Amino acid sequence: MLTGINVNNITTRMLDGWPLENNININRYWRETGGKPDNEVNKLLQIYYGDGKGKTTAALGLAMRAAGHGYKVRIIQFMKGNAYSGELASASKLGIEMFQFGRSCPQADLIKSGVMECDNCGQCWISREGITALDKKKTDMGWQLVQDSLQEGQADILILDEILHALDLGLLAEEKLIGWLQQVPAVPEIILTGRKVSPELIAMADLVSEIRKIKHPYEQGIKARRGIEY
Ligand SMILES: [Zn+2]
Repeated sequence: MLTGINVNNITTRMLDGWPLENNININRYWRETGGKPDNEVNKLLQIYYGDGKGKTTAALGLAMRAAGHGYKVRIIQFMKGNAYSGELASASKLGIEMFQFGRSCPQADLIKSGVMECDNCGQCWISREGITALDKKKTDMGWQLVQDSLQEGQADILILDEILHALDLGLLAEEKLIGWLQQVPAVPEIILTGRKVSPELIAMADLVSEIRKIKHPYEQGIKARRGIEY
């Protein structure tokens, strides 16, 4: 409970005339009023890449923060279909949309219920050598959703998780992504993640963070842990 300061009153004054619901959505406000804010909320392109752990985690942190301000957040995951990940449950609690276009894990139900631990089955991760027609089809479906996400009101924050990895494996053509980025309107903010990134995409981005592996528990033989790695 906040005491002393009534956040809702301050916001109502700030966005005078704007029909506030329970959520504050400044992006939508500026979009619909066409006004220029003092503290302008512009669409930026962010990239988190590298061989270290923490890229998706960083994107999820941003999603959590944005959702707290009432932004509409959509996460589209390529290459991943591990339906037991804790973030899927958390995202739904926070009203964050999350769509997966990778392979699902055959043990997902058992892992989700805690009966089994992720045993690195290898079947839910797509390798360069083992790409199937279904992997390609699912990637295409994910890409279609990315394009549809630009429609009015679909997303203020759009996270394309592992899309750089899908490019690297040749599941999606980089020209498609670049062409699309060039015609993205003022919203949403876009976040790309993956292991590798091209100089062209770095040139287009406003924020690029490389997450470099110094150590990983995997090297000590420690397996992925429930609630920490998934
Ligand atoms: Zn699996």
